[in-house]
Amino acid sequence: MKSLIETIKQFENNKTALGHFNVSDLTALKAIFETARGLNLPVIIGVSEAERDFIGVKQISALIKSLREEFSYPMYLNADHTHSLEKIKQAMEAGFDAVMFDGSDFPFEENISRTKEVVEYVKSANREILVEAELGAIKGNSVILRTSDVRQIKPEDLTAPEQAAEFVKQTGVDLFAPAVGNLHGIIESQGNPSLDISRISEIKKAVNVPLVLHGGSGIRDADFISAIDAGVSIVHINTELRIAWRKGMERALKENPEEITPYKLLPIVIEEIKKVVEQRLKLWNFKFKNAKY
Ligand SMILES: [Zn+2]
Repeated sequence: MKSLIETIKQFENNKTALGHFNVSDLTALKAIFETARGLNLPVIIGVSEAERDFIGVKQISALIKSLREEFSYPMYLNADHTHSLEKIKQAMEAGFDAVMFDGSDFPFEENISRTKEVVEYVKSANREILVEAELGAIKGNSVILRTSDVRQIKPEDLTAPEQAAEFVKQTGVDLFAPAVGNLHGIIESQGNPSLDISRISEIKKAVNVPLVLHGGSGIRDADFISAIDAGVSIVHINTELRIAWRKGMERALKENPEEITPYKLLPIVIEEIKKVVEQRLKLWNFKFKNAKY
């Protein structure tokens, strides 16, 4: 199996995007695994700190390992949005392929020093584990947002290309997540704001590592195509999967009011999640329909 960085580089060279989908349970994992494998595409599973608290750090790692081994399938695991070195260590010990340190709430210099500390620790223990970091303010929390919840994104919230270059150089991160108009969550009433595509191009020119687009839920198809063209190599989706999970659960209970057997109800949840994963993966990789990864 290719290493995660080799896989990412392949997507970067092809100007396509690798999917990063968050899970908190087995239904979402099953839906993502079956869909991505069916499309012959590798995939990254993401678990945030709260998702890890629910599913278990060692438990999710064992599940990914078992699928990877049984099906010889390139599925990778990322410790998404991790706020402390202690939690980074837990994920590393459990065998994660990548960790995302989120120091974006700190001022620029402090974000650099904290991220650098994480990179140095991770690389001294295992050079294979990738470290991703974020610079700029990506608002929201992977939920359905009201317009009033999200103040207008201001230019100073977005990542400046010069700062991106300095940040990547000083910290030594493997992957970089910029704020380019993206949000965590979906604004129901008016749709999500457009991405700043020219900023993505400038950041891509300024840094020499692959770019990760967080908050992929609610982004328009045309924006995705342009963002990937401009240099995004990984896209994160969470909120859309959560909505599909709930929609599937409601439909399953409504269609089967007497049913109590989980494995008869949950396939409907899986079906709803699969629709989202399939639509997104096909969109991001339409140029390489028959590419062998
Ligand atoms: Zn994120």
